[in-house]
Amino acid sequence: MIENIHWLGHDAFRIENDKTIYTDPYELKGKPPKADLILITHDHFDHFSPDDVAKVARDDTVIVTIAAVAQKLKGDVRVVKPGDSLTVLGIPIEAVPAYNVNKFRSPGVPFHPQESGHVGFIFTVGGQRIYHAGDTDVIAEMDDIEADIALLPVGGTYTMTADEAAEAANRIQPKIAIPMHHSAIVGSVKDAQRFADLCQMEVVILFQER
Ligand code: ZN
Ligand code: ZN
Repeated sequence: MIENIHWLGHDAFRIENDKTIYTDPYELKGKPPKADLILITHDHFDHFSPDDVAKVARDDTVIVTIAAVAQKLKGDVRVVKPGDSLTVLGIPIEAVPAYNVNKFRSPGVPFHPQESGHVGFIFTVGGQRIYHAGDTDVIAEMDDIEADIALLPVGGTYTMTADEAAEAANRIQPKIAIPMHHSAIVGSVKDAQRFADLCQMEVVILFQER
């Protein structure tokens, strides 16, 4: 499965099975393959990029996202909030909470407040449950997450640091963890390496593909 997961930088991945799935497409290069399904975690510019959605969407592409993003999109858009689950194109999808507990924009104001209803996703491809955490800190709800492959932000400032992301991974215990949300706006490959050093499971540091 891991060879079907292509990291396109930041939180953007293209996952190929019999369907082509994108997560948070952002600053896509060249002529990327069209999407059957696009998952968008929240409305920040580095996760919801209308230009990049337009680049990969066809008329029949299904987009699964939160209301704040959906209201700015046309087409087949399915609105979710944390706790929802649905099946799209035969792919089971769960929307799970994503929010900050210790990363603040200003005193008392988190970058990702729980009440904003941002999400992460767990979706099943090729029999593997893939967890894309979105922009989040370590949160209690992670104890309920079961995943084979976990895509976790490690860059700090707006999300978990490398150390916190390793704590999350060690709680979730996926078979494989993959660091994201580094080397674009915040964080570097050093964060990915530190994350790998602290995780108890296999970590795959993907190289950004064009
Ligand atoms: Zn964000
Ligand atoms: Zn972000």
